[in-house]
Amino acid sequence: MRIIRASHLGMCFGVRDAIAIAAREARQQPVTVLGQLVHNPVVVGDLRQRGVQVADTPEAVHTSTVLISAHGASDKARGALAQQGLRVVETTCPLVHHAHQALQRLIDQGCHPVVIGKRGHVEVRGLTEDLPVCDIVLSEADIAAMEERPRFGVVAQTTQPVDRVDALVNALRRRFPRAEVRFADTVCRPTKQRQAAAIRLARACDVVVVVGGTNSNNTRELAETCRRHCARVHRVEAADEVQAAWFRHDDIVGITAGTSTPDVTITAVERRLDQLGAGWERVAPEPTPAWEAGSSREEELVTAGRH
Ligand code: SF4
Repeated sequence: MRIIRASHLGMCFGVRDAIAIAAREARQQPVTVLGQLVHNPVVVGDLRQRGVQVADTPEAVHTSTVLISAHGASDKARGALAQQGLRVVETTCPLVHHAHQALQRLIDQGCHPVVIGKRGHVEVRGLTEDLPVCDIVLSEADIAAMEERPRFGVVAQTTQPVDRVDALVNALRRRFPRAEVRFADTVCRPTKQRQAAAIRLARACDVVVVVGGTNSNNTRELAETCRRHCARVHRVEAADEVQAAWFRHDDIVGITAGTSTPDVTITAVERRLDQLGAGWERVAPEPTPAWEAGSSREEELVTAGRH
């Protein structure tokens, strides 16, 4: 039995920054996050203990300072908060800002906006709430239901799987062969790195354990990506969910985690696997391909326009 850790996994710089800002603000005054700062119960629980409150709507905010989550928000939502006299603190990830700007550029070029993403997800709401018209698509059936326009401008929710995004852009081109389809690739590089590493991991392993919050979209997508390459994939939110019955004595076991999963949870899952398979051999992850190398915060920001 051997354990392999994905070469890219776990919390991205955007989520780390948002948590750091929330913790810093909470030390200075009571603060409320609009929506979940990140989709992970461990992180949210930790922030609650530090005094960070959570509200689902602007009306439910009872502190004078409110935080916009890493997923971003629409100008409409920001305006509603400002109208309440609240001090608004941004923790929006720069790569989400990049997606907003890319969509606006396409609209300025005369394109009808199309967002590949999950309807109702906070990031997609932020991208689309200010627009008078917009199509949100996640399947070929959604594209079949769209009206023809002379020119479409397409962006993606930052955490969508690259192969799904490519397939839907191609489906849009097939459905409207006379229309011009302009596509700005806004899937963020940390997501691409984690998905590419997860595919390599899933192909190399008998079992993959995907660690992340049950309400985390990118953890769910990561698990689905792994399932396309490995028959035995288990998704867990915490170490105590890992079951001995999932493993055989000669398995190669892979570990990966979504971009909102804290290191402490990944380490706890690894420890649990170690306990279950005392004497398992640790295998170094495969070398990272050159295009994936370099995931520092600074590098992400520099390359935001071409990731
Ligand atoms: S998943 Fe990507 S866009 Fe979202 S917070 Fe992390 S780096 Fe930013």
